[in-house]
Amino acid sequence: MTRRKKLTLFIDEDIIIKSKEKAHIFGVSLSRLVENALKFFIKPVVYCFCCGTKFEVRKANICPKCGWFICPECGGCGCKLGDEGRRVAFYFRETLREIFGMLEFLE
Ligand SMILES: [Zn+2]
Ligand SMILES: [Zn+2]
Repeated sequence: MTRRKKLTLFIDEDIIIKSKEKAHIFGVSLSRLVENALKFFIKPVVYCFCCGTKFEVRKANICPKCGWFICPECGGCGCKLGDEGRRVAFYFRETLREIFGMLEFLE
């Protein structure tokens, strides 16, 4: 068990109120939510769309054709998917980028 420390953040009041309400409904703490988001930020991991293997994106290459990560296990990427699957992969990636408000943190 690692040592837990207090972190002071400055966040929009409205977001604090609404996130506390939602966290309460789901029975999770804001500390845990922030911790999980930061964990992902430090070390983003995704599941391969083809074989389901979980891998660190930092250790994966990016396919120049589809722009998604190449799975270190099976070599799969968005190219192995159909048009619909490729669209899902693309917008999933955009969603992740939006969550963190950065364009390149995934690379
Ligand atoms: Zn794979
Ligand atoms: Zn590809």
